[in-house]
Amino acid sequence: MAQLHLRKYREDCLKQLTEVYDQAEAESLYHWLVEEVLGYRALDHQLQADVEIQDQQLKEFQLKLSRLLKQEPIQYILGYTEFYGERFKVNPSVLIPRPETEELVEWIIAELKTHQAIKVLDIGTGSGCIPITLAKHLPQAEVYACDISTKALQLAAENAKTHQQKIHFFEQDILQLEQLPQDFDVIVSNPPYVRELEQSEMQPNVLDHEPELALFVSNRDPLLFYRKITQLAKKQTSCKLFFELNQYLAEDTKQLIEDLGFIEIELKHDFRGNLRFLKALNKS
Ligand code: GLN
Repeated sequence: MAQLHLRKYREDCLKQLTEVYDQAEAESLYHWLVEEVLGYRALDHQLQADVEIQDQQLKEFQLKLSRLLKQEPIQYILGYTEFYGERFKVNPSVLIPRPETEELVEWIIAELKTHQAIKVLDIGTGSGCIPITLAKHLPQAEVYACDISTKALQLAAENAKTHQQKIHFFEQDILQLEQLPQDFDVIVSNPPYVRELEQSEMQPNVLDHEPELALFVSNRDPLLFYRKITQLAKKQTSCKLFFELNQYLAEDTKQLIEDLGFIEIELKHDFRGNLRFLKALNKS
């Protein structure tokens, strides 16, 4: 095969990627690819422009590029993502953690860091990024996490092991539960909240590749997870709730939680300026 230099490859690669993605995203995807296949950090690419790409590397590049051109998320292609400064394994059984969820975790850590021993439960844990990050930053917390999906729990357990955090995982369809198995001081959840009617706003990389189970709720009853979790939390002695929300339904969610008897309800914006998080307290 003729020699292929990184400079030339960059051109070919970006030409193809910009047919599907905008310029900024195409460049960012190219950087992810180079870092993965060649091991160079983005800043070094310029310096390495004359580097010759080996046949094996080219094969790997092309394989990953063809998946990107089908709008498969880069995180599934590489098998990992970054969350709260750490690397987490992801696969199509779990939602790719979003930067908004990092803000939720940051809020919880700030609120709980002065608390003594506490028991925390994350409902619908997916990759396990929430409980693992909480356990790491709140060493006084005993952390539990559940999900309806066996495959998600397997991956979450793998992530917990990599990060050397002890999380008590259990499989549970939360909608089928009458009572939580024990008392928790804090319940966290980023449940499915995207209404079917919002699908038209979504990108094909999300719609065609991420698990529907983790994303969607019906137009008819979009707050079902918040209602169920709050009802379960209400049966606890004293419990704090932290939720990630559908930005369009933030006020409705607040009302629902207030009607169920919770107090000190606070809504919070995400970095994009959308009402995205909620905190509430149940004092019995
Ligand atoms: N924020 C995610 C998205 O926009 C959805 C997360 C969720 O449904 N819990 O795709």
